[in-house]
Amino acid sequence: MVTKAKKEKETPPSPPVQEPSELPMEGQEEVEIPEELAILPLKEIVIFPFMVVPLMVGRESSIRLVDDALLAKRIIGLVAQKDTNVEQPGPDDVYRFGTAGLIHRMIKMPDGNVRILVQGLSRVRFADFTSTTPYLKAKAEVVKETRKGGIDVEAMHRKILDLFNKIVSLSPNLPEEAYVAAMNIDDDSKLTDFIASNVNIALADRQALLEEFDVTKRMELLLGHLQHEVELLELGQKITTDTKTELEKGQREYFLRQQLRSIQKELGETDEQTQEIEELRKALEAKALPEETREAAMRELDRLEKMPPQAAEYTVSRTYLDWILNLPWLESTTDSLNIADTRKILDVDHYDLEKVKERILEYLSVLQLKSDMKGPILCFVGPPGVGKTSLGRSIARALGRKFIRISLGGIHDEAEVRGHRRTYVGALPGRIIQGIRNTGSNNPVFMMDEIDKVGMDFRGDPTSALLEVLDPEQNFSFRDHYLEVPFDLSHVMFITTANLIEPIQPALRDRMEIISLPGYSPSDKLQIAKIHLVKKQLNEHGLKKKNIVFADSALEKIILDYTREAGVRNLEREIAQICRKTAVRVVEDPKYHASITTRNLHEFLGPVKMFREDRMIKPEVGVATGLAVTEVGGEILFIEATAMEGKGGMILTGSLGDVMKESAQAAMSFVRANSDHLKVPSSFFEKHDIHIHIPAGATPKDGPSAGITMAVALASLVSGRKVDNTYCMTGEVTLRGKVLPVGGIREKLLAAVRNRIPNAMIPLANKNDFEEMPEEHHSKIKVTYIETIDQAWKLVLLPKRNKTTKDSK
Ligand code: ADP
Repeated sequence: MVTKAKKEKETPPSPPVQEPSELPMEGQEEVEIPEELAILPLKEIVIFPFMVVPLMVGRESSIRLVDDALLAKRIIGLVAQKDTNVEQPGPDDVYRFGTAGLIHRMIKMPDGNVRILVQGLSRVRFADFTSTTPYLKAKAEVVKETRKGGIDVEAMHRKILDLFNKIVSLSPNLPEEAYVAAMNIDDDSKLTDFIASNVNIALADRQALLEEFDVTKRMELLLGHLQHEVELLELGQKITTDTKTELEKGQREYFLRQQLRSIQKELGETDEQTQEIEELRKALEAKALPEETREAAMRELDRLEKMPPQAAEYTVSRTYLDWILNLPWLESTTDSLNIADTRKILDVDHYDLEKVKERILEYLSVLQLKSDMKGPILCFVGPPGVGKTSLGRSIARALGRKFIRISLGGIHDEAEVRGHRRTYVGALPGRIIQGIRNTGSNNPVFMMDEIDKVGMDFRGDPTSALLEVLDPEQNFSFRDHYLEVPFDLSHVMFITTANLIEPIQPALRDRMEIISLPGYSPSDKLQIAKIHLVKKQLNEHGLKKKNIVFADSALEKIILDYTREAGVRNLEREIAQICRKTAVRVVEDPKYHASITTRNLHEFLGPVKMFREDRMIKPEVGVATGLAVTEVGGEILFIEATAMEGKGGMILTGSLGDVMKESAQAAMSFVRANSDHLKVPSSFFEKHDIHIHIPAGATPKDGPSAGITMAVALASLVSGRKVDNTYCMTGEVTLRGKVLPVGGIREKLLAAVRNRIPNAMIPLANKNDFEEMPEEHHSKIKVTYIETIDQAWKLVLLPKRNKTTKDSK
């Protein structure tokens, strides 16, 4: 391109449409070439013998040369310039081989340039330069060509013609006649020269063809170039056809559609698509949208307009616009926050939970004073059925906001939170945006359940997306992959819930203010049932008070004999079952009245439900009652130890985690080290293998808090003294026999109460936890604080003289 621009500016010998001389005849070959020739340097062109080429001459020296030549024999030397940038080429700037040429015609142009028509005559070698001014002159020596005949040469001749034919048919600027002309040239030398002048060959290669006097070799050389050119052209052709068909198809459809539209417009009709698009446009214009969103939506609408409605993409685009239209970008409900009313609502909806309610009121008050949502996120932690969701609902009710609840349990994929990009088939926004759409306002109370069950794996880490959602500094421009434009979540009040604190990702835990709801005692449950659950279930089943009455004792029996849980979910279910059964009878007999008592309870609920394990009925050797916290609240568990003949090995079973295994080993080591306290010969350990098992075997367990229970079970086993079954215990142990504090005391003690265990041993350092529990619990369980394993042994290992010693090991 650069060279072309230069060429135009500098004019001289301009490249040409080369034609074969009309008559490349013998006669002309015989034109006598003078011994000395004036040399016309050529830019970007090599002129072969017998070619007739128009040239534009602009250089002053060259015009002079032409003038002089016209006065003489009209024969000049045509030699290519090595470097086309040189303006006044000297002898070293031109090649040594060129063509002697005859000037046929000369026309002076109005701009002072000169146009000449030259015809190549023969290959010439320029030996000595005789002058450089006003133009180059040199001694010219006509070179004789060598050639041979034979079948090879003939085959080459044909091949050259064949390739040239292909080139002509593939290149748009070579006329068909070029091939016809070539076909009619029999002479190999002329044919190669003719084709070399017309095919796209680099300047240096052309010069090389000119300098080749052996015709056969020149043919070979040319064949190579032609081959290459054909390949290039074929490739180019393929590329254009491919793109063309693509384009043409799309364009055709578009034009047809446009035509159809204009026809319909003329007829005063609108097609479905136009109508749909118009409706969408109107809806988008009427909808309150942030500027960025509006622009994105309009862009999408324009795209939609150009798409055929049958295209899969049309639906994708359409669905996207629906999402934009249905999301509450700027719609919010007005807060009606009044602390006194809120307190009332929380009290009416929930029994007890004083601390929790107080904390919620504090939180809402700060919110009202600050009038933004930039506080920590509340996280309710507790077992199922303790009222986490229902607290969330009450908060929404008190604020006059919409309520939405989603579960994060088992989410492994960031896309669940943040959505899939629209390029995926069936892509949708993430759960956050879906939730917001369902509420129809951009400031709902948004509850995310089971934040402790968010997982992380190869599909991505949802935590980072959740962090963004929950961070008030970032969530004003939450980007959902599907929507692509930011959505403002900063007005949403997020509340999260979890069953346990430990599994919550630390980064998430940092963002949140944990509020624990540990579970209820049986008497709490009775109150909740009496005040709330029964009423709620009567309502839900369309029953009146006159239809059914629950005796307190019956409710107590349900709590103790039909359910075993920290919360009240199953209790509510059992009450619902009674209501259902009553409903049937009421329908049959409108006067029916059910009075639910302990005596007729089994008619509604069946026999008392059997439980996997209850408190130990009698003291036993090698079994101690431990306390644990699980996802469903506090639980009691029995740790069993047994010994068999062996070599001092230890087996641990019951899906124990590493921490629990180590704490079993620590307990074991302490028992061995202190066997004399237990009056056990140390040889006992050498001759026995000891097995510790913690049911239920399939539930994974971990943590150090069963240490004391294992130490007691082992001591009982080796000493043969039974464990007092009225005791349960919790505490971590050290090798020196100390008992360290553990977590979840409240949940654990509630479980003990639930299981009717009257005594508990807890670490002294946990004293406060028990004391902080409501007074009423203090009467239900007797707690002894311990600091050492020895104290525990003294307290719960029954003396051996007990008759049952015999049946121990
Ligand atoms: P969670 O979300 O903690 O699993 P829910 O909020 O679903 O528990 O509670 C289960 C049922 O128990 C609901 O009907 C709820 O109203 C009721 N409930 C729980 N705690 C209380 C309480 N303190 N006072 C009144 N009802 C309660």
